[in-house]
Amino acid sequence: MKILVLNCGSSSLKYQLVDMETEAALARGLVERIGIENSRLVHETDAGKVEMNEDIPNHQVAVQLAIDALISPEYGVISDVKEISAAGHRVVHGGENFSEAVIIDGEVKKAIAECSTLAPLHNPANLVGIEACERILDVKQVAVFDTAFHQTMPDKAFMYALPYGLYEKYKIRRYGFHGTSHKYVAARAAALLGRPLDELKLISCHLGNGASVCAIDKGLSVDTSMGLTPLEGLIMGTRAGDMDPAAVTFIMEKERLSPGGMEGLLNKTSGVLGISGLSSDFRDLEAARNEGNEMADLAIKMYCYRVAKYIGAYAAAMNGVDGIIFTAGVGENGSMVRREICEYLGFLGVSLDEEKNAKRGVEIDASAEGARVRALVIPTNEELTIARETLALVK
Ligand code: AMP
Repeated sequence: MKILVLNCGSSSLKYQLVDMETEAALARGLVERIGIENSRLVHETDAGKVEMNEDIPNHQVAVQLAIDALISPEYGVISDVKEISAAGHRVVHGGENFSEAVIIDGEVKKAIAECSTLAPLHNPANLVGIEACERILDVKQVAVFDTAFHQTMPDKAFMYALPYGLYEKYKIRRYGFHGTSHKYVAARAAALLGRPLDELKLISCHLGNGASVCAIDKGLSVDTSMGLTPLEGLIMGTRAGDMDPAAVTFIMEKERLSPGGMEGLLNKTSGVLGISGLSSDFRDLEAARNEGNEMADLAIKMYCYRVAKYIGAYAAAMNGVDGIIFTAGVGENGSMVRREICEYLGFLGVSLDEEKNAKRGVEIDASAEGARVRALVIPTNEELTIARETLALVK
């Protein structure tokens, strides 16, 4: 059985065709700049990479192009579209409606549309991708929500200390994101440690362009750093993360910013980019720091300090921790960032083995011999999780 996994952004589409017998990705691709000039598709298989530059006015055309690439006699991996048995979609916000993946029908689409007020950049794009797929493929479709894994958080963790009526009226609360990734790496961590997941207290650090920490007790999310939106919590590539809300209204007043303008500032020009004035990419920041750039140094220091503070908080929230997981772009590749974070955590029993920590792109327990709390590097695989959850529902 082959499952098409789709992740639609407002002007992009990521896809992967997964063979469920082997759980291998037969092909993966990225369509960029949908509806904008210079759009392109990059399609990758074991045989190599092809790039197509053409006009891609909307998501329907993008989905069609992705499928054409998959069945292409030249660089395709299947001979007929009928070989695709189901489609799994990443959907960012499921609100309080979804605590697990579901088969998409009219009601589900309506609920996804209703959650658009909570994720205006993501949910409408996810829905467009679902509808484009519906028109092209005659298969069952499944929605896998970024928020679903966190629906097990207790109210003491997900409520904000605002007038309770705001929760009742608008469902203002912590939802959390990156759930698919946190869930996948937690299961892998249990396998790596050779212990049942339901005996473990884990803290998962998904450190990518967006970044979040999750406290996972016995396999369940009990707290996470992202909130109503993916802006709260850690310092990210371009997002500010936690700060005094009074600073927001202060800046709006002084800089005469509209709510949209302020949201743009907090989401797009803050984070390590805002601090360093240089880049949101840790490769650039590390290179600049090595050349003596003080602002890059400050940005990295602030970033690591914030992650370490969350780990300390979540160890307290769970009354202990067995393993700390690093995943996503920075977590998987940034050995320097991992080292700097772990330097704060000696009191917990974390200690890194420098040689193991220098490895990249492989699952590894990077802890020193005898460390009480294990530091694990686990490459995430959200697409495989989406494919597995899709298979479980359509089987
Ligand atoms: P993601 O959102 O998971 O794709 O992560 C993307 C981010 O990972 C980039 O913006 C970089 O900051 C970071 N990254 C990728 N490769 C490396 C690397 N070799 N060292 C440090 N950071 C990296």
